[in-house]
Amino acid sequence: MDLQLTGKWALVCAASKGLGKGCAQALVREGANVVITARGDSALQATAAELRAFGAGEVRTVAGDITTPEGRAAALAACPQVDILVNNAGGPPPGDFRQWDRDAWIKAIDANMLTPIELIKATIDAMAARGYGRVVNITSGAVKAPIGNLGLSNGARSGLTGFVAGLARSEIAAQGVTINGLLPGAFDTERLRVTMQGAATKANEPLDAVLARRAQMIPARRFGTADEFGAVCAFLCSPLAGYITGQNLLMDGGLYPGTF
Ligand code: NAD
Repeated sequence: MDLQLTGKWALVCAASKGLGKGCAQALVREGANVVITARGDSALQATAAELRAFGAGEVRTVAGDITTPEGRAAALAACPQVDILVNNAGGPPPGDFRQWDRDAWIKAIDANMLTPIELIKATIDAMAARGYGRVVNITSGAVKAPIGNLGLSNGARSGLTGFVAGLARSEIAAQGVTINGLLPGAFDTERLRVTMQGAATKANEPLDAVLARRAQMIPARRFGTADEFGAVCAFLCSPLAGYITGQNLLMDGGLYPGTF
């Protein structure tokens, strides 16, 4: 299937590793040009080299914190036009809500709700004027079924999801712009391993044992891969997905138990 992405410009946030990188890879393979961002430059340059090796779309890098106004301005300045926006940032830490003060909440809301909204605000009207735009927000399965110790994520990401549900159905829907959420369950990335290492240390067990037990809880009996995640993202960014908007697509190997 030709996803018809050749020549489109995509801004993929937080993309030196993990799910963001998977999205950037899939978009570049399909011929899109990408601007990828991350805080640290060395992993970012290594990822850019991998993407350039596909010999397809142009790859630009911007090192900076996407949750800051400066980081967002630099990312936007590097992208000649944003046809595709993939919103992503690191997730908030786990914990007990009794320990979180106002600053902890503001940080989570900034990163996982207000940053994507600011980037949408900066790009969506130009997308609509050109008659084409795709926004994919990388959120979490926590939006559909809350995760016990991830209250900051449950709250901030649900705020984004609620806002976007309204925006996606506004006048932009008739102007070629779609906005969707892509909800990861458990994917084998650095983030997952760091989180599981915490559980392993607490239980005094080897990391591999904790990972294997977790994977067994998933009907697919494995974690998802960044490649699988990127492929679905690229499809949502394609002209072929033009009639899908305001949706939240869960990718979790069957973990969520509901019929819908
Ligand atoms: P990861 O740690 O493997 O990669 C995160 C990437 O984001 C890295 O490239 C890092 O440099 C970059 N990054 C982080 N904070 C940034 C910032 N402020 N500015 C710019 N770049 C930044 O993480 P991942 O597993 O790919 O997760 C991506 C998102 O998906 C996170 O918000 C995470 O909480 C969420 N998520 C992941 C899973 C999973 O199983 N991996 C499940 C649910 C939700």
